[in-house]
Amino acid sequence: MDTTELETWRTLTAKQQPSWPDVEELRRAAAELRSYPPLVFAGECDLLKERIAAVARGEAFILQGGDCAETFDAVTADAIRNKLKTLLQMAAVLTYAASVPVVKIGRIAGQYGKPRSKDTETRDGVTLPAYRGDSVNGFPFTPEARIPDPWRMVRMYHSSAATLNLVRAFTTGGYADLRQVHAWNQDFVKSSPSGERYEMLAGEIERALRFMHACGTDPEELRAVEFFSSHEGLLLDYEAALTRIDSRTGLAYNTSAHFVWIGERTRDLDGAHIDYFSKIRNPIGIKLGPATQPDAALAYLDKLDPQREPGRLTFVVRMGAGIVREKLPALVEKVTAEGHQVAWICDPMHGNTFEAPSGHKTRRFDDVLDEVKGFFEVHRGLGTHPGGIHVELTGDDVTECIGGGHEIEFDDLGTRYESACDPRLNRSQSLDLAFLVAEMYRG
Ligand code: PEP
Ligand code: MN
Repeated sequence: MDTTELETWRTLTAKQQPSWPDVEELRRAAAELRSYPPLVFAGECDLLKERIAAVARGEAFILQGGDCAETFDAVTADAIRNKLKTLLQMAAVLTYAASVPVVKIGRIAGQYGKPRSKDTETRDGVTLPAYRGDSVNGFPFTPEARIPDPWRMVRMYHSSAATLNLVRAFTTGGYADLRQVHAWNQDFVKSSPSGERYEMLAGEIERALRFMHACGTDPEELRAVEFFSSHEGLLLDYEAALTRIDSRTGLAYNTSAHFVWIGERTRDLDGAHIDYFSKIRNPIGIKLGPATQPDAALAYLDKLDPQREPGRLTFVVRMGAGIVREKLPALVEKVTAEGHQVAWICDPMHGNTFEAPSGHKTRRFDDVLDEVKGFFEVHRGLGTHPGGIHVELTGDDVTECIGGGHEIEFDDLGTRYESACDPRLNRSQSLDLAFLVAEMYRG
């Protein structure tokens, strides 16, 4: 590919970009990023595309999850292991209880840039630029912290590299071996009903493994898991600097993650994000909110997947629990009538956010669950495939979402509210969700 084609987005309107104070510093930081090695290989992105093609055909299920906003401070072994453990446990539940192959994708190793509904934040009469994620500015509410600094994108690269390195070690170095299915639960089981339920399921998996072993089979596939990275491809200066031409094929790939998606606020058909994403060959996603018209879904197909390539495009639906049953059918019908199979997955988080009396942003576990239910109902009604879930979660016992097995209430939100942006399901709520989704999948 001609590399100037990769830069045409610069002539278009790019929403949600920081006002970098010093263009020369931005140029230097971007040049530094361009000199670094890729974080992922094109061949891995192609493999994920194959896996997502299976999802679109109805043969597999996507579990995509992680923080709303990763932070540099949380790049620690404990935090990364806990998130991974939670995703592995959820995947074990879904694979076993729903008997479906699970494609595991973390919102991890790059989820540092955040779109904001307002450019500024006001506290006690003081107005400052909004926090746009650790890749742009600082979380503390001070004028200095909120100045965008392009060198934060360089730190984003290093934080992503460190995270991905540990994730790769955990997922291929024995920790994710299915024979460890009990060990992932060790620090958890006593304290929680979902942990106990998991323990029973892990017991069944272990018996099945012992049975297979006794029959003389010990498949190599169980020793490691395929795990992919993803983030919102928001900050185009960063994404462009990590875009490379694959030496095998001459095609362009975003090498900062296996999968990148376009957010609800930056999906203008003639905007810079759509243009940039149309030039890369990774599997990509696009968030579809409640205002999406069926014709727009087709327009996205034409712009982003003109070859109708299996696994290329994933529609991430985030309508809200009260709306999904009403709005989703027309979108699915339109795309299906056109004859193309995309992967449809449900983000039951972003349409269900509200402010608690304490001022915390929160979500009700029951709304999250109800949106997934609605999503399944729509697909079952149309004979299409509910292809997966996209959730914000952490492996820690935070108190950010209301309800779930531990019945977190409004008054509990202040106990352990640690998100730098949107409220996440904690470990126990995440496991509860996995069990309930597995039941829905079985029908
Ligand atoms: C997000 O995924 O954190 C996000 C901002 O979502 P959306 O673009 O769907 O609002
Ligand atoms: Mn979010």
